[in-house]
Amino acid sequence: MQDINFLFLIFAFIFGSIIGSFLNVLIYRLPLPREEKRSIFNPPYSICPNCEARIKAYDNIPILSYFLLKGRCRNCKSKISLQYPIVEILTGFASVLAYLKVSKYLFINNQINKMALIDYFFIFSFLALMIALSFIDLEHKIIPNEINVIGFLLGIIYTYFRPDMTLLDALAGSIVGGGLLFAIAFFYEKVKNIDALGMGDVKLLVFIGSFVGVFGAIFTIFIGSLLALIVAFAGYAVNSNKNIREYEIAFGPYLAIAGSIYILIGDKIKAFYFGGL
Ligand SMILES: [Zn+2]
Repeated sequence: MQDINFLFLIFAFIFGSIIGSFLNVLIYRLPLPREEKRSIFNPPYSICPNCEARIKAYDNIPILSYFLLKGRCRNCKSKISLQYPIVEILTGFASVLAYLKVSKYLFINNQINKMALIDYFFIFSFLALMIALSFIDLEHKIIPNEINVIGFLLGIIYTYFRPDMTLLDALAGSIVGGGLLFAIAFFYEKVKNIDALGMGDVKLLVFIGSFVGVFGAIFTIFIGSLLALIVAFAGYAVNSNKNIREYEIAFGPYLAIAGSIYILIGDKIKAFYFGGL
């Protein structure tokens, strides 16, 4: 643990929170209907969703600005969603977790190990996309194709660098993950007549599978379903007048949490499962 440099931890957090403020833009702009969809970089600056005033750089500091402005737009004084600092804090922590995963081999003979930087880049990108799609799914009950396609391509490119997974492993993870979830969705829709899963969730498993392989994809579906069930039943218990069959939940965030657990400690989970520990 002496390899973990405290300054690097702080730097990883700040870097993550800056990416988090970009994720807030994605979360806001990606689900917009096409006619009012601004492209992600147009305008290239942040605007207030209420009055469309340009947000000045000094009011756009991740996490801090929200609290300095007391959660209100400087121009129109409308409330800024608490989601903005939450996403920035979460992304900061995601960056720290990705850094901790590679910190043991970040330096070899006092030189920066390129492989650690590459691992950090792909792991953090994975986690950042999980955060973005979770917040979009929670609010809009959709997972944008753009995120699943970019994620899947990153997973495929990553196999070129990583020693623990081949291109074939990644494709197998995508096919088994997406296929299994598609079979579950098909079963519920045709046999039970419950429209429980969207194709967005199936495509999400294609993305996650490309990063975590077959075992990781099955783990993600199993743990994601378990988490979703626990929360659904807890929600049902609180809201008992609701019909459980109509109790709609976004499944994406649970798959995202399970996939994130696996990308961070999957090697240990796999070793434990196969009796290696
Ligand atoms: Zn405003």
